[in-house]
Amino acid sequence: MLNGFFPSECPRCGKPSDSPRHAPLCYECWGAISPYNGPSCGICGEPLASGHGSVCGECLADRPAFSKAYAYGLFDGTLKEAIHCYKFASIRRLAAPLAGLLGGLGLPAVDVVAAVPLTKKRLLERGFNQSMLLGREVARMTGAKLLPHALLKVKDTPAQAGLGRKERSLNLRGAFMCGGPVSGQTVILVDDVITTGATARECSKVLAKAGAREVYVVALARTKK
Ligand SMILES: [Zn+2]
Ligand SMILES: [Zn+2]
Repeated sequence: MLNGFFPSECPRCGKPSDSPRHAPLCYECWGAISPYNGPSCGICGEPLASGHGSVCGECLADRPAFSKAYAYGLFDGTLKEAIHCYKFASIRRLAAPLAGLLGGLGLPAVDVVAAVPLTKKRLLERGFNQSMLLGREVARMTGAKLLPHALLKVKDTPAQAGLGRKERSLNLRGAFMCGGPVSGQTVILVDDVITTGATARECSKVLAKAGAREVYVVALARTKK
């Protein structure tokens, strides 16, 4: 009977799904999702070979508009599988358990929560904005107010895959607009996965230009370089 509500097999281990909370991932596989605790840049969070809390070359050369980026884990293994189920198989109820992972990151207290937006066209295709649903959960967890229109994506951008840092940031120029009252506010900007950080950088810049006092970026995962 439950099969009508969630897929019956864990995509990770093939065992029957045994948890309605984070199905199709089974209880055991979900439990194996772990945070990244290795050395990372004190600003953007990019994993570093060594040196906890030091700052990466990119942040030194071009300091982002956000104060700090938090990502729960590496985009790999079960976490990657779970994000795929959520984002591409549209299993929306995974928003709550995925956002729950962020609860352990010691997120800063802020006034408002914003999310990386999709264009209207993309939103219609997917049916939901994966970052916005996470943002709603983050707002609930932190007691901050969700501003659903703080950021708008006003320009369709070609797929970022295969592009270098520079092309990615050029690609994103003018793609976002601020549509909400962020002036004087401290903001958590929610994204699902941080790849090069170009999106987080551009969105933060737009929020800062609109008067946001401080911007923090929060994501589920970060791709490994
Ligand atoms: Zn499993
Ligand atoms: Zn950095």
